[in-house]
Amino acid sequence: MTDGPRVAVVGAGVSGLTAALAVRDALGPTARIDVLEGSSRPGGLLTARTVAGVSVDAGAESFIVRRPEAVALIDRLGLSEHVVTPTGRRPAVLARGALHPLPRPTVMGIPAGPDAVADVADAADLASMAAESDRPLPWTPGDDVAIGALVGGRFGRSVVDRSVDPMLSGVYSARADDIGLRAALPQIAARLDAGAPSLGAAIAAVLPPPSDAPIFGALDGGYRTLVDALVDAAGVEPRYDAPVTALHRDRDRWVMTVGGEPDLVCDAVVLAVPAPTAARLLEPVAAQSMSELAQVQVAGSALVVLALDETVTLPDHSGVLVATGEATTAKAITLSSQKWPHLGAGPRLVRVSFGRLGDPVDAITDGDLISAAVDDLGLVCTLAGGRAPRTDEVLDGVVQRWPVGLPRYGPGHLGLVARADAALPDGVATCGATYAGVGVPACIARATVAAARVVAHLTADGRDAGGTMGT
Ligand SMILES: Cc1cc2nc3c(=O)[nH]c(=O)nc-3n(C[C@H](O)[C@H](O)[C@H](O)COP(=O)(O)OP(=O)(O)OC[C@H]3O[C@@H](n4cnc5c(N)ncnc54)[C@H](O)[C@@H]3O)c2cc1C
Repeated sequence: MTDGPRVAVVGAGVSGLTAALAVRDALGPTARIDVLEGSSRPGGLLTARTVAGVSVDAGAESFIVRRPEAVALIDRLGLSEHVVTPTGRRPAVLARGALHPLPRPTVMGIPAGPDAVADVADAADLASMAAESDRPLPWTPGDDVAIGALVGGRFGRSVVDRSVDPMLSGVYSARADDIGLRAALPQIAARLDAGAPSLGAAIAAVLPPPSDAPIFGALDGGYRTLVDALVDAAGVEPRYDAPVTALHRDRDRWVMTVGGEPDLVCDAVVLAVPAPTAARLLEPVAAQSMSELAQVQVAGSALVVLALDETVTLPDHSGVLVATGEATTAKAITLSSQKWPHLGAGPRLVRVSFGRLGDPVDAITDGDLISAAVDDLGLVCTLAGGRAPRTDEVLDGVVQRWPVGLPRYGPGHLGLVARADAALPDGVATCGATYAGVGVPACIARATVAAARVVAHLTADGRDAGGTMGT
């Protein structure tokens, strides 16, 4: 039964697959949903690699459980019993050549006052933080600013380098100087808009109450189980090795060029691809959206997954985030066997992350990345009071590169997205990490909105309901 509307979803990452599921839910079995994926597999940034016989997530590995979207989708897909939470070991930060507990409480590494960063910040900056409320905070509602400039100006550079950068580099693959406050930390921007007298006061107002409840969850079979379940539930058979290279309008229908194949004609399109590709495809049909999205930079990254002999003792942390200026190539090390109970037996598993905006890894060979991963892990083991793993204890190592990686949420990003959304023609929607948050739950949320937009376009009821993009 495929006599209903035909919808094309471009990109089979979590965003595209979630959008496909939401379109299926809304339009039922008669809708024809074509999922077109440029690579040879579904999942996009959700993928696993096998090291020493063990499958390990080599892109995203977890999701925030304090947001509802991933938890709800996993429940909907019948996977709730596969959700695992971390062991409770704490992350460390490598700063000033030593390991320290990751500062807390903070909002993305930004503390409310000097106590939280007393271990890592310079004495002069601690004094400046203590007196921050004495200095007027120039802020006009609606302002946007790089997080690094704001925190550096109010608290001092050492707080940026050793507390904020390690957190932001992990989440956004970019340093605080490249990330805008309003898109990354809207709750703080809102406090400043509302007249918070100091940055410390704005942070104090949004710090969550202390809690031992887990912040993150993961799937015991890895993200692959979510990807497979999404494909099944959406009732789609994605076409792989099918890059969409052009999009055109033909009256009220959409015509796509898919690889070398004949053009595909459909009633609505969801673009679930990174910003550079979305911009290219939108050029003939939405010039303003194209010109906005073309401004979004992307930060490539790479991950080395190591398997070590099970007799190796890893530091008693879930991982180590690296401050700006430290003598490592890596930006972060996840001690997966220490962090996740389901990975606790067998070989010791470690994920070592490289690359940020302005700090690319393309020129580093796979062999050099693996060597750097082993060296940086050795340094961390030594600093934790143990010893570096011997060469014969490194059982396996694989490199997973993410050349497109993550979009940059610079100052003004929300305005850019709003303008790109406003210029979209009816029948075309966009979703993905570019728009309303880079985490998997945020991508799920945006994909659901994108699906609602095309459904609204295709159904009379939906047309009455509107269907505007946005969060
Ligand atoms: C190393 C790393 C670790 C991360 N860890 C976490 C984490 O632990 N938790 C978390 O919540 N988030 C994490 N993230 C972020 C999260 O993984 C991503 O934001 C999210 O998976 C993006 O999904 P997406 O579907 O929007 O995009 P993608 O996963 O990038 O999917 C886009 C898809 O479109 C396809 N495509 C591109 N061009 C075309 C074309 N022309 N035609 C057809 N198909 C095309 C691509 O091949 C790809 O499959 C991480 C990101 C990275 C890079």
